[in-house]
Amino acid sequence: FAINMDQLQLGEELGNGAYGTVKRVLHKPTNVAMAMKEIRLELDDTKLNAIIMELDILHRAVHPSIVDFYGAFFIESCVYYCMEYMDAGSLDKLYGVGVPEPVLGRIISCMVKGLKFLKDELQIIHRDVKPTNVLLNKRGDVKLCDFGVSGQLDKSLAKTNIGCQSYMAPERIKGESQNALSTYTVSSDVWSVGLATLEIAIGKYPYPPETYSNVFAQLTAIIHGDPPELPDTYSETARDWVSRCLVKRPEDRATYAQLLSHPFLHEDARRNVDMRGWVARALQWKDEQKQQRRLRQQESEPLHP
Ligand code: ADP
Repeated sequence: FAINMDQLQLGEELGNGAYGTVKRVLHKPTNVAMAMKEIRLELDDTKLNAIIMELDILHRAVHPSIVDFYGAFFIESCVYYCMEYMDAGSLDKLYGVGVPEPVLGRIISCMVKGLKFLKDELQIIHRDVKPTNVLLNKRGDVKLCDFGVSGQLDKSLAKTNIGCQSYMAPERIKGESQNALSTYTVSSDVWSVGLATLEIAIGKYPYPPETYSNVFAQLTAIIHGDPPELPDTYSETARDWVSRCLVKRPEDRATYAQLLSHPFLHEDARRNVDMRGWVARALQWKDEQKQQRRLRQQESEPLHP
């Protein structure tokens, strides 16, 4: 069935991304809670239609580690994109609680399985692997969203997103500066998986902006510096897994199949991991952080007579 705006009851705002807002909505005919992303684009109807058609492939992206796609439509110059509502939100706001090794193993195993499925079954390369694009729910499911399926959409968003947190592989950063967009292969995603894993584990982006005087210095470190590593509080197996992703030469990086059969994820497959419990703790921690921020804000605000 095709979704349209009339069927949706708008709810609270869930987040604000680089390209638009995400709202919770209720699909009235089916009573399904969804997340709706609004992307504002200054494009003509032909191009908007092309985007909607390109997004259609997402109906085939059905996998336990991929956020379900329900449909997309456009109104005036906005594309609306409806997907499965993930009630624990994105991983970047949860990992601060601390991620024990078994939880880390389960999260990345889900990520790699999702990425392998996209690549093998649909010939899709994600292109934007990072903790913000990993969503969780209270059941403990871990799913990927926001992958590049629409050339037109990617082009329109002009993803020259060299911000202060780049997950781009060295060859991509180099390629980008030479304006060659063709350097992107599946192994570039593997680098991003490695960086994301490190960030989830250590609780912060591995090339912290405060260490570098500017973005250029930071990107230079990614290209020319030694790849970052997991600290030795993690097992040798986990550290080896990450090092197989963070290899400078793309042709020497592990493939998804190799990453899945690596002892680290092999162990994960045989282990019972209480993801539900971890998500509950992380959500509670996130709530406490929010409250503390609010208190600090109140304290710093001058009292009005
Ligand atoms: P970005 O552009 O930074 O990738 P998005 O626009 O995709 O961010 O999403 C912004 C925020 O909205 C996310 O950080 C997340 O908290 C929330 N969000 C996005 N998709 C969903 C979803 N399917 N379910 C619940 N929350 C979501």
